[in-house]
Amino acid sequence: MKIIVLGAGIIGVTTAWQLLKDGHQVTVIERAPGPAEGASLANAGLVAPGHAFAWASPAAPGMMLRSLWRGDQAIRFKPRLSLRQWAWVARFLGQCNGASARLNTGRKARFCIYSQGVLNDVVAETGVRFDQGSGGLIYFYRSPESFEAAALKCRILADAGIAIEVLDRDATVAREPGLAAAKDQIAGSVFAANDTSGDANLFTIELAKRCAEGGAVFRYGEEVLDLRARGREITAVVTGQGDLTADAYVLSLGVMSPHLVERLGIRLPIYPVKGYSATLRITDRSLAPRLGGVDEENLLAYCPMGERLRLTATAEIAGYSTGFRRGDFRAMFEKARALFEGAADFDHPELWAGLRPMTPTGMPVIDRSPYANLWLNTGHGHMGWTMSNGAARILADLVAQRQPAIDREGMTYEG
Ligand SMILES: Cc1cc2nc3c(=O)[nH]c(=O)nc-3n(C[C@H](O)[C@H](O)[C@H](O)COP(=O)(O)OP(=O)(O)OC[C@H]3O[C@@H](n4cnc5c(N)ncnc54)[C@H](O)[C@@H]3O)c2cc1C
Repeated sequence: MKIIVLGAGIIGVTTAWQLLKDGHQVTVIERAPGPAEGASLANAGLVAPGHAFAWASPAAPGMMLRSLWRGDQAIRFKPRLSLRQWAWVARFLGQCNGASARLNTGRKARFCIYSQGVLNDVVAETGVRFDQGSGGLIYFYRSPESFEAAALKCRILADAGIAIEVLDRDATVAREPGLAAAKDQIAGSVFAANDTSGDANLFTIELAKRCAEGGAVFRYGEEVLDLRARGREITAVVTGQGDLTADAYVLSLGVMSPHLVERLGIRLPIYPVKGYSATLRITDRSLAPRLGGVDEENLLAYCPMGERLRLTATAEIAGYSTGFRRGDFRAMFEKARALFEGAADFDHPELWAGLRPMTPTGMPVIDRSPYANLWLNTGHGHMGWTMSNGAARILADLVAQRQPAIDREGMTYEG
């Protein structure tokens, strides 16, 4: 089949790869000059089934409320005059109860484990290199209360099949000597031995090259403007350079996905949740973390990537701007310096902000749309790197009318 994939983020490119493997003729359309220049550019890099907790939790509404007058909350709500934002927030709040949080966390965890397996397959079959880290990830807690609560919450992840170890303060620092400077501030951690890490941007660029070698056509610098439909079928994609036709189309435009298909009556519950990212040169390996991890109370993620240290923080429900000021990084650098002073060049960071394409549940939509030849693979939120390869495999299975290897609970299009 001739298939056009819309978007060359990590989701579009992994989808292109799986479709090529199934023998399809694939074209990818991307408005940026290259792959992975949207949310996939400088994320935290954590391949983290052990961090699959749903963001829509009973604690989230309080954080959002407090964020209206305090700048230190992990989830920040900046109200806009936008029906789209308020409709999404209402649906998100609807998921912020214990039962939904447990359900969504379990679903995310099972999907992430599956996806990590597919990532390993893709690495084995392509040999792509992306500053991959292994040996597990550490999620640490500063207050004894939140550490105890986390140890309890982890049962959901363990039930889903994730290898979880609960470590006290000494065991945490023994596992990650890079946290020694902050030892007194750490109550304990949750260690996920099978979690890994790597540069999603490098991975996507390398995989796009393998796709091109395998015959995929990448049309960069081309904006997708609209989809033409006849009845319940897509007949063409309209771009800044004219109409393109195919037998099938895959929507993977990240936070822009809902906008393209709204006119067709397709409603996708995806809204941007902004995060900030800084990449620093490691200057003293002995002081740098060996493993990636998260400082949970500060929602500060860190990840060594070859010679670089990546830091990310903040979940801001604030609209579509990717702009930032240096001051937006002040809290991140204060926390990170206290953890890894001397490990990296904090004076010359590469700064970036990106938009996570979030659904209220945290699960993506991977499904056929109401249009027979339009497929949806979008809305992977804060875990799109972790979920990407599994999502792509499932999408390719659906196109081929094969039963996906895992249950698609929570991923279907609800209309
Ligand atoms: C700060 C931060 C930290 C994160 N950390 C992690 C992490 O540690 N682990 C993890 O698993 N995930 C993480 N994520 C999430 C992950 O990065 C995203 O879920 C993932 O990148 C989404 O990929 P995507 O392909 O759907 O979107 P994108 O990468 O945004 O790709 C969509 C593409 O569509 C293109 N596009 C949009 N509109 C058009 C149009 N009209 N025409 C043509 N092209 C168009 C865009 O240019 C873009 O390239 C993080 C995200 C952020 C922001």
